[in-house]
Amino acid sequence: MSPSKIHRSAESSIRDELNLGEEVVTIRHNAPAALLYEDALEEHDTAISSTGALIAFSGKKTGRSPKDKRIVDEATSSNNIWWGPVNKKCSEKTWLVNRERAADYLKTRDHLYIVDAYAGWDPRYRIKVRVVCARAYHALFMTNMLIRPSQQELKNFGEPDFTVWNAGQFPANTHTEGMSSKTTVEINFKKMEMVILGTEYAGEMKKGIFTVMFYLMPVSHNVLTLHSSANQGIHKQDVTLFFGLSGTGKTTLSADPHRELIGDDEHCWSDHGVFNIEGGCYAKCIGLSQAKEPEIYNAIKFGAVLENVAYDPNTRAVDYDDCTITENTRCAYPIEYIPSAKIPCMADQHPSNIILLTCDASGVLPPVSHLSPQQVMYHFISGYTSKVAGTEDGVTEPEATFSSCFGQPFLALHPMRYAEMLAEKMHQHKANAWLINTGWTGAGYLSGGQRCPLKYTRAILDAIHDGSLVKSEFETLPTFNLRIPTKVNNVPSNLLNPSKNWSEGSAKYGKAVQNLANLFVDNFKKYESEATKEVLSAGPKA
Ligand code: ATP
Ligand code: MN
Repeated sequence: MSPSKIHRSAESSIRDELNLGEEVVTIRHNAPAALLYEDALEEHDTAISSTGALIAFSGKKTGRSPKDKRIVDEATSSNNIWWGPVNKKCSEKTWLVNRERAADYLKTRDHLYIVDAYAGWDPRYRIKVRVVCARAYHALFMTNMLIRPSQQELKNFGEPDFTVWNAGQFPANTHTEGMSSKTTVEINFKKMEMVILGTEYAGEMKKGIFTVMFYLMPVSHNVLTLHSSANQGIHKQDVTLFFGLSGTGKTTLSADPHRELIGDDEHCWSDHGVFNIEGGCYAKCIGLSQAKEPEIYNAIKFGAVLENVAYDPNTRAVDYDDCTITENTRCAYPIEYIPSAKIPCMADQHPSNIILLTCDASGVLPPVSHLSPQQVMYHFISGYTSKVAGTEDGVTEPEATFSSCFGQPFLALHPMRYAEMLAEKMHQHKANAWLINTGWTGAGYLSGGQRCPLKYTRAILDAIHDGSLVKSEFETLPTFNLRIPTKVNNVPSNLLNPSKNWSEGSAKYGKAVQNLANLFVDNFKKYESEATKEVLSAGPKA
């Protein structure tokens, strides 16, 4: 079959869907990066960086809009969905209004883009995704973030399992029933479609597909979806998962020169092992330097998309320290731009180590502790980290946040469904589990503590991976009941036990411990009725 014939079939299906009768619209199907660059550059503001990446801007929204996320309330999925603050209901009528609004807008464009690609590296579980959008940069973003089909696979692609209609340049109508703003990101599990109106932030598409996987994998395949990074030892082939909220170190710590990168953000754990959902990485760029993070820095080249960065108008060099547009500057590139990437991004092994990352600004939690299976569940359900306020707003109290399963905004089902699956898998495969605090040590953020130096966190990971840490001697930190090693190679011993190294003395430390323990206990109240007695008693004692 000739490529033009293949392209006609995806194109004609979109022409039918959109009722594109007489309208003159060019449809580009799986266009190469060079062609997407040429189209993107017709837009005001778009540029090519000095290293060859495409610089684009998402307009008013420079981050996700969690308050505008909706799921259509329909019979096939309604009983499964975790309704509440994360997943708000949207009627089938409102869905139809918004979908038609998106389609009517897309029809008015001169160019439309179709990206056909996969989510999920394991062919047993992957889904076929189609993205329909009107901005070339959105098409290039999803080409990078999804798994790119080979020519042969594209030829046999057929109908997609899930379609994203991105009409983000056009607003929702606030008079539409159930619309509280001009933005909506809504998923319909019966139709297997998503509609985006009123936001051009590209990350909505990536995290929308993540929510689809959080629904489909457990419900249809008994496969667990995880907000984690993953890597694998080159000799031992041992797999490590790193769970953690934004800024805790998933991307930084999974890039390890001694290990192959499976992925930096979204994974699934099946009966066969672990696979990455994505074909690319979406790295934070703020403060990026070639010296500190050479792999990411060097991946920002032709084909990569830079979003919302500032650049020198004369040299087109990007200023990674400039946050005038947003702190959340990002770059999306294909995963093979990282030299240690493991292609295909999957492993037949089950994880040997599970690492829960937290960035504790109160300085209470030790840099590393060994968790019992019940403690893993307690901390996984809690999902604790701190958000440190941006310096430009003046120094205010760092904010403790709890986000269940370390990924609450993306969950489709109740958090306990994922927690139960994780407990079962951990029981079956006997992984060691660790809590790592990449945040403050010696004292809290406000009392002159320091962030745990990256080299010590890396040394702790080396000791986990060479098997020495699990065999070392442990002592128990009261209240949180954490087992902490007394010695780790290449880490100063006084760093390991916060009750001994707290700069303001042990009385102040005790108070800080109680404060944090109270926050954990309060937060966990909402899970009390579902959690087992063992898990409940694995939490801190307030
Ligand atoms: P997101 O979900 O937003 O992608 P992430 O979990 O991937 O977030 P990273 O991008 O890895 O988070 O961010 C961690 C940041 O913290 C990096 O800028 C890193 O340099 C810094 N950092 C400082 N100290 C440490 C440490 N001890 N361990 C890990 N990261 C550290
Ligand atoms: Mn990351």
